[in-house]
Amino acid sequence: MEDITDGLVSAADCAGCKQCCFFESYTLADTPTVSDDVAVLSAMLVPEVRFTEPYGRRLFMMLPTEDKEIFVCPMLDHSSGCKLGGKKPFECRLFPFALMGVDGKRMITLSPSCPCIGEVSFGRLKERASALLKDVLAEADERPELVRPYEAGYIVMCVEKSHRQITPQE
Ligand code: SF4
Ligand code: SF4
Repeated sequence: MEDITDGLVSAADCAGCKQCCFFESYTLADTPTVSDDVAVLSAMLVPEVRFTEPYGRRLFMMLPTEDKEIFVCPMLDHSSGCKLGGKKPFECRLFPFALMGVDGKRMITLSPSCPCIGEVSFGRLKERASALLKDVLAEADERPELVRPYEAGYIVMCVEKSHRQITPQE
């Protein structure tokens, strides 16, 4: 799956923002899922990186910041952005979209927290989400742990057509 921010949010916008690489303490269980490949690459790039596995998903051990309520991803280079480049975790490649599920249906939603997405028309965002759906669902078929329970505040962009049973993480 391509990095979907291409053409929606500029690299310059992301370089000046980096908001989606910082996490409030109560959201640490919802940080990006680290696949085996990404874990290996991360350990090569940042040997001191550590992982944690709550709820059966491997996550980065986020690093504390001066604000004790805010943590930062160990893969963030503060001047050049994500050290993983195009090999970022699924959720990072998909952001500001997110894959969520409710009542056995998977859907692509839009995060309300990206400060730059407001510049993009809703029609363009919806078109991009619809174009992504097939690839996103194929990846989720392989890794069902990527489907997160729907969260209030996220905007539903498109929903899969066929019903299927999913097991959102607790
Ligand atoms: S929140 Fe949006 S603008 Fe900021 S780094 Fe993430 S994708 Fe880029
Ligand atoms: S893996 Fe990269 S894009 Fe994802 S949160 Fe960490 S630094 Fe940000």
